Amino acid sequence: MSISCPVCGSENIKKSEKKTTITIEFGRDITIDEVICTCLDCNFDGDFAKENDKIIEHALTEAKRDMSKFILEELSNNGISNTHFERTMGLPFRTLARWKKGNISASGYALLKIIKTYPWILSVADEKFNSTYAAKALIGAAINIEHPQIVKSETTTTNGILGPEVINKWGFELPIVEEEKMEDTSYSHGILSFQGGQP
Ligand SMILES: [Zn+2]
Repeated sequence: MSISCPVCGSENIKKSEKKTTITIEFGRDITIDEVICTCLDCNFDGDFAKENDKIIEHALTEAKRDMSKFILEELSNNGISNTHFERTMGLPFRTLARWKKGNISASGYALLKIIKTYPWILSVADEKFNSTYAAKALIGAAINIEHPQIVKSETTTTNGILGPEVINKWGFELPIVEEEKMEDTSYSHGILSFQGGQP
């Protein structure tokens, strides 16, 4: 299919590529080769062939695959093992190995992004989503950002998360929360449950 200039109708078009950087989730960048068409008769330029949307979509799909691997490696570097993650979230054994290879569904990818943003949710899940523990873990995560020296001075932190006992010791105020009655203690009733098919 020939390409023509949308301004003057000329088919005297030169195609060139321009490297463009797109910032995606978690501040990561991807570089794409954007196609630029230039009309040699009137000098108008742009994406006459409408190719760039496809190029961007393809790059984002590739980036998503790469992102799963990046997130899982980061979690593992922070002491969160695959088996811990799978057990806590009630995922079938070897799910994360599949995800790491890019074999991941939209819901799996969404879960990964949640865990990457709030890794202490795993410790909350370990505590059967006890609401008091959840509130303390949230404060612990905030202290980690605001007062990293406190976290550094404590040897009882796990994955950079301050345990409730540390928060009590340092006297941080807790919001008042109702204690939840946890009747079902099986971890398959985690933050997300998947029904039918693979997560
Ligand atoms: Zn033209």
